[in-house]
Amino acid sequence: MSDRYDMVFVGSGINSLAGAALLARAGKRVLVLERADRLGGAIWTAEITRPGFVHDVLACWHPLFVGSAAYAELAEDLHARGLEYLNTELPTGWVGSDGSSAFLTTSHERNVEELERHARGDGEAWSRVVQGFMPNADLCFGVLTTELWSRAGGGLGLKALRRLGRRGLVELTGNIVVTARDWLTETFASPSTHGLLAPWVLHTGLGPDAAVSGFMTQVIAVAIELGGMPVPKGGGVKLVEALADIVRDAGGALETGQEVERILAENGSVAGVRMTGGTTVSAGCVVANVTPTQLYGRLLDGSDLPAPALEAARRFRYGRADMQIHFALDEPPRWEGDERLPRTAIVHLTPGLDGVSRAINEADRGLLPAEATVVVGQPLAVDPCRAPDGKSILWIQLQELPRKPKGDAAGEIDVGDGTWTEDLRERYADRIQARIARHAPNLESALLGRVAFSPADIERTNVNLVEGDIYSGSCALDQNLIWRPRPSLPGHRTPVEGLYHIGASTHPGPGLGAGSGTIVAHDLLREGPARRAFSAVGRRFGN
Ligand SMILES: Cc1cc2nc3c(=O)[nH]c(=O)nc-3n(C[C@H](O)[C@H](O)[C@H](O)COP(=O)(O)OP(=O)(O)OC[C@H]3O[C@@H](n4cnc5c(N)ncnc54)[C@H](O)[C@@H]3O)c2cc1C
Repeated sequence: MSDRYDMVFVGSGINSLAGAALLARAGKRVLVLERADRLGGAIWTAEITRPGFVHDVLACWHPLFVGSAAYAELAEDLHARGLEYLNTELPTGWVGSDGSSAFLTTSHERNVEELERHARGDGEAWSRVVQGFMPNADLCFGVLTTELWSRAGGGLGLKALRRLGRRGLVELTGNIVVTARDWLTETFASPSTHGLLAPWVLHTGLGPDAAVSGFMTQVIAVAIELGGMPVPKGGGVKLVEALADIVRDAGGALETGQEVERILAENGSVAGVRMTGGTTVSAGCVVANVTPTQLYGRLLDGSDLPAPALEAARRFRYGRADMQIHFALDEPPRWEGDERLPRTAIVHLTPGLDGVSRAINEADRGLLPAEATVVVGQPLAVDPCRAPDGKSILWIQLQELPRKPKGDAAGEIDVGDGTWTEDLRERYADRIQARIARHAPNLESALLGRVAFSPADIERTNVNLVEGDIYSGSCALDQNLIWRPRPSLPGHRTPVEGLYHIGASTHPGPGLGAGSGTIVAHDLLREGPARRAFSAVGRRFGN
């Protein structure tokens, strides 16, 4: 390891890898330090059930990356290094308790027909949603790709004001803060359409009764119609490898098994990092892909920091926990009902809007939900090479779990003292397996292997996923958008000059969009590394 770099990244999540690739390609000397024994953070591909069954153990679906600014810039270099995206015309569907179903495809005409089938007028309503969204899509997606606390953020606001006028801007803001429940029930008549769209709010870290969840549902639904559900051929690791190769080919370095224990600062400016074991690396700029808890509570010397920053980090809240279950199957699941189900990438099992709402509420009150929303991912519907011929895999996600359960809403499982033990994990996984088997009755007879990850297991894979919160911090409005990670600590600059904070805990939040890494890389390339005019936030802290 050379001892001086332009930029050192702490952690190798998607934001670090994309940021490092952009900077290395532009001629910067970049080093990525990762404490785990593999690169990629929440992207991890492995044969965890049986040989030949390739599972994306954590994150699986790449619409956010494929729609990202990073991909727009790096696509050619990534493809040259072996990355290939596969996609499907059947990205998502819903199955209710009684077996009724609904689908969203990549064809606008078919979606109009499908929703019209469920309730007269819902198809037309969908058309109005898409038509109403498109003229301002640049503003909505702009929010996710811009440093909001900056001149660029101000520019975006001004652009919106010029285009929409004061009244229009107020209307758009109202449309942004609306809940999914209000938006769905005002817009569509059919409970099937509500059931189809409501579970998607879970993938933004929200529930259907939370502020902004209506806007997030619209963004995701339109993005799914436009972009489908792409995955890398062979698994997410292909993206990690291709990004790492861009860094290496440009002279940068990536090291695993290297835990940063201290970010070094001198006179208010960053100087480098120290790893456990004592090795130090000096750098003009450090980009930390960690939670605020780790950044301000461990990596920085608190005695040098302004009290408001420490207090803001201390108040950072984590969200609900998640569990993942992976199945290896001797044959594909034989779904009962609509013939499209086996070909659909992500099927949500839930009674519908109220079902999602109830499960979220139970989880928020510390209970295992009686009837969770089961996210049934079928990676083979997009990438058939992930299992031997004729066999199958399922990727199951359960996002409505308490980090420390106090009880079971169904009154069946004894949660003990709330520790996610192996026993608790397996008993909850049994409940979910039985739920899926009600709709795909061959599930249990076809079962070759099952590996479940409880919230505690998920945190063990990556310290940023605190107590199994896969979004590295609650996405409630006061910790989202211009307020992420905290209202008094927004954006990516920190009170230490030359130290940047990226990752899921920062704007634009979680997901594989690589937004924060890209924003910071662009910022550094525009204005030069470190030693720069300090931000309004820094000045507010008196630095
Ligand atoms: C189970 C699960 C499923 C998901 N599914 C999807 C999906 O399908 N699609 C989607 O778009 N998003 C999904 N997400 C969300 C998305 O994967 C994450 O938001 C995103 O990958 C986070 O990236 P990041 O850049 O913040 O870094 P992370 O992925 O959090 O990685 C950070 C890395 O930093 C390392 N690190 C931390 N501290 C230190 C230190 N002190 N020294 C050295 N290294 C350190 C960690 O070991 C880790 O490898 C999922 C997440 C999870 C967990």
